[in-house]
Amino acid sequence: MNHGSCIHFNGVRDASSTCGAGVNYHLTFGDQRPGLFLRMPCIMFYTKPAHRRGTYVKPGEPTVREEVNRRGETCMECAQRQEPTDEQVARDRVDSEAALARAVAGIRIASTWRAKPKPARDRAEVVVCPICNGKLHLSQSALNGHVHGRCETDGCISWME
Ligand code: SF4
Ligand SMILES: [Zn+2]
Repeated sequence: MNHGSCIHFNGVRDASSTCGAGVNYHLTFGDQRPGLFLRMPCIMFYTKPAHRRGTYVKPGEPTVREEVNRRGETCMECAQRQEPTDEQVARDRVDSEAALARAVAGIRIASTWRAKPKPARDRAEVVVCPICNGKLHLSQSALNGHVHGRCETDGCISWME
């Protein structure tokens, strides 16, 4: 979530995709011509750190705005377009940072707990969760060696390889 983008934008997967406000992207902006993204007002600008490449922004990091190059296409209007507030952007960055930290913790546990080569039988263990100190259930498949993890605490880490 960034300034300049609509809070309802959720990505375009196929022709039936609708945004969070129920607007079908292809029917509304497709116009049966190529260049759908250039006409969509959903991501009017993107925001990125002034000193780094990419679009990931850490909490509190300074940003710059750059207008999307529409290559001659005109941006269409949407009555339901709604930009996030400063507070929403700040909260989203904190949430994203926390989610990233949880994902990294999961990857670390999976790599240290994993038996190599893959075990002859499925294995499982309950360990202390590094995020919340709760109970983290780990299991490894004898079939492909993949490690799954799920913490008992609501909203904490869980992953499937
Ligand atoms: S600008 Fe309109 S179509 Fe695009 S995400 Fe927002 S509400 Fe949906
Ligand atoms: Zn946990």
